[in-house]
Amino acid sequence: MGKDLQLLKEIKACTICQDLPLGPNPILQFSAKAKILVAGQAPGQITHHKDRPFDDASGDRLRQWLGVNRDTFYDPDKLAVVPMGFCYPGKGKSGDLAPKAICAQTWRKKILNVLPNIELTLVIGKYAMDWHLPERKEKNLTETVGNWQHYIEQDNPVLPLPHPSPRNNIWLKKNPWFEEELLKELQSKIAMVLEK
Ligand code: SF4
Repeated sequence: MGKDLQLLKEIKACTICQDLPLGPNPILQFSAKAKILVAGQAPGQITHHKDRPFDDASGDRLRQWLGVNRDTFYDPDKLAVVPMGFCYPGKGKSGDLAPKAICAQTWRKKILNVLPNIELTLVIGKYAMDWHLPERKEKNLTETVGNWQHYIEQDNPVLPLPHPSPRNNIWLKKNPWFEEELLKELQSKIAMVLEK
C-alpha cells in the first residue's frame, strides 16, 4: 500500500474529536496521482449520511462550476477532495459550525505532502482561505474571489471560490462577473489540467 493510501486509512479511523453530534466519520478522497485539490469547509449532514464528499445540492453546483461530471469528480486520481474538517461539525445559530481546527492541525500538512502532482487548488470559503491564502490582503471573501486573477497566475495556481451552497444565491446574483469571467477561466483551466 502506498503512503497516500496508508494515510487515508489512518484518517478514516480517526476519533480525535469526541464532541461531534453524529460521531466521527471522516469524509474525503485523495490519491498521490490527483492533479486538482478541492479545499472545502466540512461535510454537511447529507454528505455525512451518504459518506461521500459534496454528494448534495452544493456538490451539483460545484461540478457545474468546474465543468466535470460525477465520474470525474469522484475519481481520486484526478481530484483530491480535502476539506478543512473531515467530519460533520454540527449546527450553529447560522448554519453549520466551523470545521474542527484540530483536524487541519493534525492531518493537513501530512496529506499535502503525499500529493505531489497538484496543479490547481480550489479554495472554497473562509476557513480554506485562512489556511491556503494566509498572506491575502483583501478584506473579505468577495474581494478575495474578485482578485482571482492574481492567485491563478502564481507558480502554484490557487483559485478562491465562494461556497457553492444554495445559501449563496444572493451573492452570485450580486457578483455576475463570477459566472461570466471566473467560471469560464476555471473550466478551461480544469479541462487543460485533466487532459494533460
Ligand atoms: S474532524 Fe478530523 S480530527 Fe476530528 S475526528 Fe474527524 S477526522 Fe479526526
